[in-house]
Amino acid sequence: MSFLQVEKLEMWFGKQQVLKNVDLSVEQGKLVTLLGPSGCGKSTLLRLISGLETANGGNLYLDGKDISKQSAQNRDISMVFQSYALFPNMTVYDNISYGLRVQKLDKKTIHQKVMTMLSLIHLEEKSAAFPSDLSGGQQQRVSLARALIVEPKVLLLDEPLSALDAQIRKELQLELRTLQQELGMTMIFVTHDQEEAMLISDTIHVMHDGEIVQSGTPEELYSYPKNDFVASFIGHYN
Ligand code: ADP
Ligand code: MG
Repeated sequence: MSFLQVEKLEMWFGKQQVLKNVDLSVEQGKLVTLLGPSGCGKSTLLRLISGLETANGGNLYLDGKDISKQSAQNRDISMVFQSYALFPNMTVYDNISYGLRVQKLDKKTIHQKVMTMLSLIHLEEKSAAFPSDLSGGQQQRVSLARALIVEPKVLLLDEPLSALDAQIRKELQLELRTLQQELGMTMIFVTHDQEEAMLISDTIHVMHDGEIVQSGTPEELYSYPKNDFVASFIGHYN
């Protein structure tokens, strides 16, 4: 069994089936991307994995345990969204340490962990700043730090870079991938941007209309697209 195993996941909103028997395996320490157009079910799949919503059918296993019935808080999974959702009235330090204060860790341990995080995201000098003092890219780095500091088993990222302009976005793509590899963190990254997916992923799962239509490394998908949809999405026609 894989580190994270999704089996036959099914989701309906009223009469619309938005996920159809989705199977997904994620190995520990890998960055896996869900790539597909708007409305294909990417965010729904992440919400089901995180426990923010409950599937109509299927099973979820993480690290050998059935997590299907566990609440979101007990799953050891963190999530980062497109909108930074930082606490506006808290400093960068307090935003990042939030999850550790909830866990009631002692001040010294919290301080050490926050300093390590700040250095990983290159924002040591912004510790006392408020979110409104930061650029979009800096705010998203803080969101990432806040999600990582609790050492989740899996980090889910729902189009985390989509709101940023092109230059900053490129920088953060590389930073995110470097950080992921340094920490050996298991990540599921959602995007509709094929270039982004090709650049950062170990494995890409192309989604279309509630299904995963093809999975493979960026090179495999580029060289051997299974059908016209994948070919057009990956930007390659034979
Ligand atoms: P993506 O993230 O790939 O853009 P979503 O998972 O957000 O796709 O949505 C997949 C489909 O499910 C869309 O047709 C969307 O309109 C529908 N959908 C998503 N959330 C809800 C909801 N809470 N209620 C009803 N329909 C929803
Ligand atoms: Mg979405």
